[in-house]
Amino acid sequence: MRSFYTASGHAPRLNPAYVKVEEVKVCSLASGSNGNIYYVEYEDTAIAVDMGISFRRLKSRALTRHIDLRKIKAVFISHEHSDHVYGVPALCRHTGAVAYVTRRTYDAMKSKYRPDQNSLHFFEIGTPETIGPFTIHSFHKPHDVEDPCSFRIEVAGVNIGVFTDIGDCCQGLEDNLKMCHLAFLESNYDREKLDTGRYPEHLKQRIISGYGHLSNIQSAEIVRRLNPPHLHTLFLSHISQENNTPSLAIRAFEDMRDKYEIRVMSRNEASDVWAVTTERARCLPNAIEIPKRLDRVPLPIPNSTL
Ligand SMILES: [Zn+2]
Ligand SMILES: [Zn+2]
Repeated sequence: MRSFYTASGHAPRLNPAYVKVEEVKVCSLASGSNGNIYYVEYEDTAIAVDMGISFRRLKSRALTRHIDLRKIKAVFISHEHSDHVYGVPALCRHTGAVAYVTRRTYDAMKSKYRPDQNSLHFFEIGTPETIGPFTIHSFHKPHDVEDPCSFRIEVAGVNIGVFTDIGDCCQGLEDNLKMCHLAFLESNYDREKLDTGRYPEHLKQRIISGYGHLSNIQSAEIVRRLNPPHLHTLFLSHISQENNTPSLAIRAFEDMRDKYEIRVMSRNEASDVWAVTTERARCLPNAIEIPKRLDRVPLPIPNSTL
């Protein structure tokens, strides 16, 4: 048998390129009715789901998490509400990302938010798209817009779900959640807080209608009932500022906290970056300190068209 050691008795020098193990990295850069963008990175490629904040804000948040926005090759658009598409044209312009959108969603958003024609790719809901090592699966969901869908991102054997803005449980959500290792799952409102809160009646009805959003109880019930076999991490997302609190959302999942790593995504800052395998998600330490004047910090984009 050939020895691991060389004739001189020293261990051979390994090329660091072969030693380095790349991981799937996941981060919420914004989550809530004031803007959403979810980020999945693997090696030199990243996929974003939705982009509902300004590019300036995105740059600041990415910087705090040492995320290189130039890796984003595609942004998948779930629907035309502004908290999901506001920053899509700027993201495409500044990073070269391609906007993946259905024709009907594009028609519904183009008067206000129109990415450059060269940055557009139309996809069919239910037909997987491949981008480098990524496969992006989509499914129909109930929400009060033209052509709503949600996504499951598959890369390096890991499945990440981004499931927000869903009025009620549906077959697509069930089928895709069952395949996920980690899911961003909407936990939008606490029913009692909504009922007794100051939202006008028509808005309350919209939220609970079956084409609005999932409540804490609804989300928890879906996970409890499905008991997704691969799931190890849940990121509760799109939390309402008015009708929910992080602790109320977590409380609905109290009985599942031994089973899953559960975190609440913030409306106002980026989440930690998590390294995800099929077995678990590991929270990575923040790469750099947050500068005081974020707006003054330039993002190093060579050949920028800023
Ligand atoms: Zn939304
Ligand atoms: Zn929406």
